[in-house]
Amino acid sequence: TIRTRFAPSPTGYLHVGGARTALFSWLYARKHGGRFVLRIEDTDLERSSAESVNAILEGMTWMGLDYDEGPFYQTHRFDRYKEIIQQLMDQGDAYYCYCSKDELEAMREEQRANKQKPRYNGKCRHLSTPREGVEPVIRFKNPTVGQVVVEDAIRGNVIFENSELDDLIIARPDGTPTYNLTVVVDDLDMQMTHVIRGDDHLNNSPRQINIFKALGAKPPVFAHVPMILGDDGARLSKRHGAVSVMSYRDAGYLPEALLNYLVRLGWSHGDQEIFSLAEMTQLFDIQDVNKAASSFNTEKLLWLNQHYIKTSAPEYVAQHLSWHMGELGIDPADGPALVDVVVLLQERAKTLKEMAESSVYFYRDVDTYDEKAAQKNLNETSLPLLEAVLKELTDLSNWLAEPIHDVIKNCAEKHEVGMGKVAQPIRVAITGNTISPSLDATLQLYGRERALAAIERSIS
Ligand code: GLU
Repeated sequence: TIRTRFAPSPTGYLHVGGARTALFSWLYARKHGGRFVLRIEDTDLERSSAESVNAILEGMTWMGLDYDEGPFYQTHRFDRYKEIIQQLMDQGDAYYCYCSKDELEAMREEQRANKQKPRYNGKCRHLSTPREGVEPVIRFKNPTVGQVVVEDAIRGNVIFENSELDDLIIARPDGTPTYNLTVVVDDLDMQMTHVIRGDDHLNNSPRQINIFKALGAKPPVFAHVPMILGDDGARLSKRHGAVSVMSYRDAGYLPEALLNYLVRLGWSHGDQEIFSLAEMTQLFDIQDVNKAASSFNTEKLLWLNQHYIKTSAPEYVAQHLSWHMGELGIDPADGPALVDVVVLLQERAKTLKEMAESSVYFYRDVDTYDEKAAQKNLNETSLPLLEAVLKELTDLSNWLAEPIHDVIKNCAEKHEVGMGKVAQPIRVAITGNTISPSLDATLQLYGRERALAAIERSIS
């Protein structure tokens, strides 16, 4: 079976770049009926935090990227790493290195002076007696000749000369393992068949392949996903705007929109733009991912979001809208069913945040009117109209959009004014402003008693 993983370091929020890598790994496993594993690479104790772990788990849940195994934590596996480090020592594939910072610096200086690439020169490889009073690191004995071929599913073969790779530190002086070692041990123990990750790890792959080989194991297939760029061509980062997955939830995006957007960043299927999760699972293949970096385009993401808000089942949109209402301090129990609000607003809303903000009045009576709106619509000439229409609305027994519409229309005709002259004051009375979806439908949903009371308040 195909086994893939997402292996984030919990040193911050879940970045959209990481989310895309997770999505590709998830899709690949799902497509092949394989297993998707979540592994938290938290060995950097200083930079890792529980908060960040939670942010990652929350992001995965929100996107609906479920994992079959895990989350595994590398900090729970130190004994295992020690065991492997010992094995490499016993095999003669690793050795203690006592070189001090100063010695290493001098080594680099000399190499620079000789126009060589700075690298560890293997000085301690043949040391037979330990140096007193120095806690050594452990280095992996990288082969000194030959090549390592990273058979990358996206880029094809990427060839590295062993002479370019130096002896990597696999254990720090305190015995804790380093990144390249823990990744190999985990990918091995967790039987990964495919390692799909960001191309910032491409240079680690030949080193990791050498460790796999030293352990007598066949390395997994690698696929290095090209990076995401901001609109200025630099690697996407905070200064380009929102980059965390949860900030997109906060801004009112549906997970479907973000997933659809992310899958298209570097992958395509003809000129198709809209992909459900099921569809992308069926069509995705790692070989079809672009070699070139792709640019993040907020406009397109917004367009997709609007599409999904418009076309998703109102019940589903309402579930997500409910969270946004909560953020605004609103209890959806205080007004009409959220589903009905969604039906009213989903045609035009670009984000759920916007939808939530523009439906507040359904759940909380307006206590102030927009100043301009009130000046224009709640004045001496309009108030008599409002009083007239209030009387007729009060007499209306059938509180539905159509008869409400007729009442407003008839009232306008009777007073020989345009419909807007009657409708806008009502709108301001109900919403506090001059913008709302069709007024008759809004009034129906708002409810008879509340509507009459709100109009009355606007007159007094
Ligand atoms: N923990 C690494 C990171 O967050 C990923 C390692 C990997 O995927 O091999 O960049």
